[in-house]
Amino acid sequence: MEHIFYGKSFSRPIGYKIMFEESPRDGDHHVGGDEWTLPNCRLCETPMHQLVCLDLKDDRLSELRGEHCEELALFSCLNCSMLWEKQFFKLDFPNQSAAVIKQEQEEFEKADDEDQITAPLRHVPVSLVEMEAEDYPTSEERYDELFTALGTAYFGRVFGKPLLAEDELDLTCCECGQDMTFVALITGENDFDEKYGDLFFGEVILYFSLCPACHILKVEAQSI
Ligand SMILES: [Zn+2]
Ligand SMILES: [Zn+2]
Repeated sequence: MEHIFYGKSFSRPIGYKIMFEESPRDGDHHVGGDEWTLPNCRLCETPMHQLVCLDLKDDRLSELRGEHCEELALFSCLNCSMLWEKQFFKLDFPNQSAAVIKQEQEEFEKADDEDQITAPLRHVPVSLVEMEAEDYPTSEERYDELFTALGTAYFGRVFGKPLLAEDELDLTCCECGQDMTFVALITGENDFDEKYGDLFFGEVILYFSLCPACHILKVEAQSI
């Protein structure tokens, strides 16, 4: 069966664009940084990359907030093939640390030395800007246009119905079996200015989902 990834139903719920150089007002959201203690990648054994930190004190993200859940880090290894398969992490919010639960990647392919992205990524403040009508994939034309905007006008999308490149997301939590909450997607194919650091990590979108009950963070990838 062919999947349809656009249409009227994609105009809600409300989503936000992760944008550089908008004046940050609501919350201390940022790209990069190293506030969280992240596990080393099981495949290439190098430190993982903290990609985006969302400030959960921002009321727009209140559904992700819990006791001691003040900041949510979205992360992955960007230097090997691990990011191409599903990854599950357990988050320890009070200590701002994470552990690997499961990585489904078996084949190991490491980026060449000259292509290695050093961790941590540069800390750059970002804003969450509410999407406008043209930012939702309500038609095939808009769906196609969004893949151009993603990675040029903005770095990722928070909430909203996920913009899908290849397939539906599997949001089942690996611990409790309930549906996880889709949090954000981030594109690895982008052409942002070097002043934000090295953010190109391939023709891929990473999708991040959270189980609010188990504090499991799931990362899955689709190629674009
Ligand atoms: Zn790795
Ligand atoms: Zn769960």
